[in-house]
Amino acid sequence: MTPFSRRVGILGAGQLGRMLAIAGYPLGHKFGFYGLNHDEPAAMLGHMHVQSDEAHSLSQLIDFADVITYESENTSVELVEKISQTTPVYPSATSLYYSQHRGREKSLFTELNIPCAPYTLVSDLTELHQAVDMVGLPAILKTSTEGYDGKGQFVITQTDQIEQAWSSIGEREAILEGFVEFKRELSIIAVRNADNQQVYYPLVENQHHDGILRLTIAPARQISPAIQQQAEDYMQALLNKMDHVGVLTLELFETETGLVVNEMAPRVHNSGHWTMDGAQTSQFENHIRAITNLPLGATTPRQSFAAMVNIIGQHGDIKTVLNMPNAFLHLYDKAERPGRKLGHINVVANTQAELQTRLDQLKAWMP
Ligand code: AMP
Repeated sequence: MTPFSRRVGILGAGQLGRMLAIAGYPLGHKFGFYGLNHDEPAAMLGHMHVQSDEAHSLSQLIDFADVITYESENTSVELVEKISQTTPVYPSATSLYYSQHRGREKSLFTELNIPCAPYTLVSDLTELHQAVDMVGLPAILKTSTEGYDGKGQFVITQTDQIEQAWSSIGEREAILEGFVEFKRELSIIAVRNADNQQVYYPLVENQHHDGILRLTIAPARQISPAIQQQAEDYMQALLNKMDHVGVLTLELFETETGLVVNEMAPRVHNSGHWTMDGAQTSQFENHIRAITNLPLGATTPRQSFAAMVNIIGQHGDIKTVLNMPNAFLHLYDKAERPGRKLGHINVVANTQAELQTRLDQLKAWMP
């Protein structure tokens, strides 16, 4: 045990928990997980407490841990509040409360003068009709909670689709959001520790297909210092307001008139996986440093250009990646299944042309 070794408990044992542990061991920490079963990606990386024996296994994780974090914004706020009475949980229940509900998240953005799409909360079909009148079309209907990778969403372009939209999202509490005509989708990752040290990664550019992230380019191309600063200012307002400790991710749209915020996540994020090989300190290490109150590491890119390509559904010919210079393979030990995130490939380059060459060689992994 070093003086700053901590036992870190993670609620969840998927690939994010796996990569958090891999980043945390060099700091001398130990890990435990509260997950679904012993086949999950993180299961072999620390003490695994399986949920089937709910009360017992969770209390074992709490007994083990000096500090607890979580993998998903869908973690129960009540559970985090309860654990916090005995063991610190970061990010706190406050960050979770805002991030897991689109309505609360949007009202927070509005309160902090952070621009987002016009929206209205809807809880039944009548309200949805009224919301369409207010917000206008096209618009996106999104469930208030538990949407991810584009699930629980319906794009309404004509009024005769309103009923179909309502039934398609399961007739649940939702928000109707104005459609944003964006040029690109961007995201930014910030980290704050309990001493209020704050660091920001550069804005990155994200390309999705069927609601799933497929490619991140880091840093995003042609971003002015003023736009980077704008994104950092939004982040700083959110970090301070929520007294956030750990990584916070903000997804944004770049429009003709500036940045429009989409949503935030109180956790390490797929659009930050490039940092494992492309930045001085990865988002995973910085999250662990933040929640164990260590100084945060530099977020500067190691090389001029980096990209991350997700491996979705099938692994493909991974030997191509292993034979490629400046390419780094990260697999999550998951079985192949359509639409499933199985791993990712990071590439770094000194020139834009070199980055493009690498991406051309990785076409098989892109839609
Ligand atoms: P979300 O789950 O909110 O991240 O939405 C998934 C994807 O839907 C985003 O990555 C965008 O491509 C698209 N999208 C979400 N909200 C909007 C919007 N208000 N206007 C246009 N596209 C959107």
